Amino acid sequence: MEISERAASVLERIRSAALAAGRDPQEIILVAASKMNDASRVREAFEAGVTVFGENRVQEMLEKNAQNAYAGAQLHFIGHLQRNKVRQVVGLAGLIHSADSLELIREIDRCAEKRGLCQDLLLEINIGGEASKSGFSPDQLPSVLEAAAAFSHVSVRGLMAIPPACEKPSENIPFFEAMRQLFVDNRGKKYDNVSMDLLSMGMSGDFEAAIACGSNMVRIGSALFGPRNYNT
Ligand SMILES: *Cc1c(COP(=O)(O)O)cnc(C)c1O
Repeated sequence: MEISERAASVLERIRSAALAAGRDPQEIILVAASKMNDASRVREAFEAGVTVFGENRVQEMLEKNAQNAYAGAQLHFIGHLQRNKVRQVVGLAGLIHSADSLELIREIDRCAEKRGLCQDLLLEINIGGEASKSGFSPDQLPSVLEAAAAFSHVSVRGLMAIPPACEKPSENIPFFEAMRQLFVDNRGKKYDNVSMDLLSMGMSGDFEAAIACGSNMVRIGSALFGPRNYNT
């Protein structure tokens, strides 16, 4: 199947999932997870109406950006970010989904200040409490928000989560619901530099369930680009 057909189908599925949940389809932002898809495939997705791309490796993002892969589109960083690579991402990615430690946020703030800009980010939550995953635990969130409020060159826009791998999308519903609850609970509190309007959750296998649970940003790779080839 062509990327354009896949994109049309994903956009339609997002629309249906939103309507089924009684939500406005326009509130759901599609982020194309374009890892391992080259600049020309990113352009194909852009031509098909995809306007936001998320990369998860800094080097790959820089290479594709140098090839103008994201011209006219928005670029997000969605992968694990090492502190020593922060300066290459700040300002280039409009949103960093994966702020997973205060040390990382401090470094993002420092680089953003140097560049004279304010970097939007999401706090990554390890909602399944998995040892193999990074992210804050749900009970750390209030203190993290309080600490983040002191960084004047970052803006915390919301939360992101990758629930544990599962067989059926419905198995993730409790994690998505826990995320929604966390999002809503912390949304009402007022902190400086925190706006809490984005909830990034849902991937190819489970985005409809995520939308039903309140996600307003889905990160979709294989359903858009086809299966990734890890052998090349
Ligand atoms: C690859 C990736 C996705 C998308 O995964 P698919 O299952 O291919 O949709 C979403 N989020 C992150 C952080 C990713 O690295």
